[in-house]
Amino acid sequence: MKSFGLLGEKLGHSLSPQIHNLIFQELKLEGKYDLLEVPKSRLSTLISVLPQNYGGVNVTIPYKVEVMEYLSSLSKEAEDIGAVNTICFKAGEAIGYNTDYLGFNKLLEHNGIAIKNKKVAVMGTGGAARAVLQYAADKKAKEILIVSRKPDEAAWHLEKFAKMPNTRFLDYDNLKEDGLGDVLINATPVGMYPKDGVSPAGPSIVGNYKAVVDLIYNPKETVLMHYAKEAGRLTCNGFYMLIAQAVAAEEIWLNTKIPNSVIEKIVKKLG
Ligand code: NAP
Repeated sequence: MKSFGLLGEKLGHSLSPQIHNLIFQELKLEGKYDLLEVPKSRLSTLISVLPQNYGGVNVTIPYKVEVMEYLSSLSKEAEDIGAVNTICFKAGEAIGYNTDYLGFNKLLEHNGIAIKNKKVAVMGTGGAARAVLQYAADKKAKEILIVSRKPDEAAWHLEKFAKMPNTRFLDYDNLKEDGLGDVLINATPVGMYPKDGVSPAGPSIVGNYKAVVDLIYNPKETVLMHYAKEAGRLTCNGFYMLIAQAVAAEEIWLNTKIPNSVIEKIVKKLG
């Protein structure tokens, strides 16, 4: 039996065990996925003993950055983003990955949304936003707008992106005045259950973009997505990304390729 798990501080409502158990079912594999709640004071000790019983773990709030100091090495994406959400234990090593980046790639591919040479606006400057920004930079977006309630502070925190020639830091009023763009991405929790019914951007901003991606997956249709639909824009939520990042973690742990049809089946089952 292969054992994996999720490392975090409070994991009560996590969907991850259900998702990973469905992946095991699809792969006809005997696997187990545990919730590993740990207080900050015990994080390093736990990571040192985990390889005895686990092939790998996912990492969630608030440990995605802190965990990095206990790892032997990092994948290129995890290093570039500065956050890890998946660890693989192999031959005495603990290697860190960022499958949010890989899941976001699958979400865009699935919805036919391209980034290369496009003007992309990313709302939010937290962990998910960093993965999205790195992806946009790697995929050679023409222009990247980083939208924050405090753009000056954000430029300081995201110094690496501030140094890129094609990035600009804006607040939400600036975004409204900025005119047309290609892809608008919500990487804030604004609009997420139970505080749904609000949107980080109003209809006038949404109408300026050709495609609108919300990383939120609960509710299925956020107010932001509703505005996008009303304006006749292409839009999608983050559910496909959630499943795709879990599948990407299994690919790393099992050292195998898993077809997109597995993601699609699980999206249908749980969606
Ligand atoms: P986070 O680290 O807390 O960052 C969220 C960012 O949103 C903050 O840095 C902040 O940027 C902005 N923000 C927070 N509250 C806000 C408010 N009231 N109004 C406007 N902006 C606000 O969160 P995260 O981990 O990056 O996650 C962000 C969202 O992505 C969540 O909804 C999460 O569920 C979703 N997500 C989805 C997936 C998936 O697989 N689909 C994966 C990861 C995350 P400023 O302070 O600069 O404004």
